[in-house]
Amino acid sequence: MRATRAVIHLEKFRRNLRAIRERIGPDRLICVPVKADAYGHGAAPIAAAAVEAAGVCLGVATVTEGAELRNAGFSVPILLFSQPLPDEIPELVSLDLSPFVSDGEFVDLAARTAAAAGKTLSVHLKIDTGMGRVGCRPEDAAALAGRIVSRKGLILEGTATHLAVSDSPKAEDLAYTRTQLARFREALASIRGAGINPGIVHAANSGAVILHQDAFFDMVRPGILLYGYSPVSGEASVSSALQVEPVMELVSRIVFIKKVKQGESLSYGRTWTAPEDTMIATIPVGYGDGLPRLLSGNWQVYIRGKPYPLAGRICMDQCLANLGPGSDIKRWEDVVIFGGAAPGADQIAARINTIPYEITCNINKRVPRIYNE
Ligand SMILES: *Cc1c(COP(=O)(O)O)cnc(C)c1O
Repeated sequence: MRATRAVIHLEKFRRNLRAIRERIGPDRLICVPVKADAYGHGAAPIAAAAVEAAGVCLGVATVTEGAELRNAGFSVPILLFSQPLPDEIPELVSLDLSPFVSDGEFVDLAARTAAAAGKTLSVHLKIDTGMGRVGCRPEDAAALAGRIVSRKGLILEGTATHLAVSDSPKAEDLAYTRTQLARFREALASIRGAGINPGIVHAANSGAVILHQDAFFDMVRPGILLYGYSPVSGEASVSSALQVEPVMELVSRIVFIKKVKQGESLSYGRTWTAPEDTMIATIPVGYGDGLPRLLSGNWQVYIRGKPYPLAGRICMDQCLANLGPGSDIKRWEDVVIFGGAAPGADQIAARINTIPYEITCNINKRVPRIYNE
């Protein structure tokens, strides 16, 4: 086994899931987003841990991701969040995925394909209340719902919207979310007013699970929160009393240690020069594994629970840490890069002006995942 691996703490994932269950109460459903290989954690093992709990379904972004889960034997509903191509409809029908639908053209294509295959396809009507990605306009929702229920081959399993700034406690963002929810409720009323049951109603992503109780409806879809990070920054998150822990821990081992003399430079571009005689460790992880190169000289790894700064540029396959003069740290010792005893992917993200989602998603397939029960 390679020195570098991503330890996936399934017990922490289960605890995070229980924390969310406690927050939303026993009667609502939880759609667990396992898109992008479960935010880099591994879709099938995460899905297996998720469906142990009651009232759980899964969410993916592509038909291929849905196929992977069906082939692995998962029989729970799988929602397809992103708009597929017409070409992909036969496969999503045969896999029994539940797509978000936003327009009449797609409703007709899907209905025809399902009916021709002698199957019924469950769909979720997606209403765009202000995210601006996919979804019908709120004022068109009732007509589109009518079109869905009039088609043999389709079932209106649910009605959904997606929130753009639900993770922000700023007053103007709270107001924007309230406006989105008001538009959503109005559209739901028009669907019901037309005598149509909207099915499972859902809107809440992780931000809304923390900040917007009135967005819970019948089902929530928290992703990043399940993987152990709050998308809400600062006080508002802390005071929410919903505690989660990072599920992914990126670890490696020291494979080489050398003494470097004062004034000697290290790595590409010679951006780092030893300020004194010191011990330098080589760690076999780099941007070829998904560790952002922008962290060069801007992160510290943890050895025996203590931080050691990265020195010089992060390379494709290796990086360097300054152990300091006279260190007794030994070759082959463990190194934590993020998670576990080290700060989380959220801290890495903050350093390079991105979000923890991108950090865990980008840890790529060269890094073996080790599942800790
Ligand atoms: C990815 C996604 C989610 C989860 O978002 P988080 O911010 O990770 O909670 C929920 N709903 C939809 C439609 C998504 O695409």
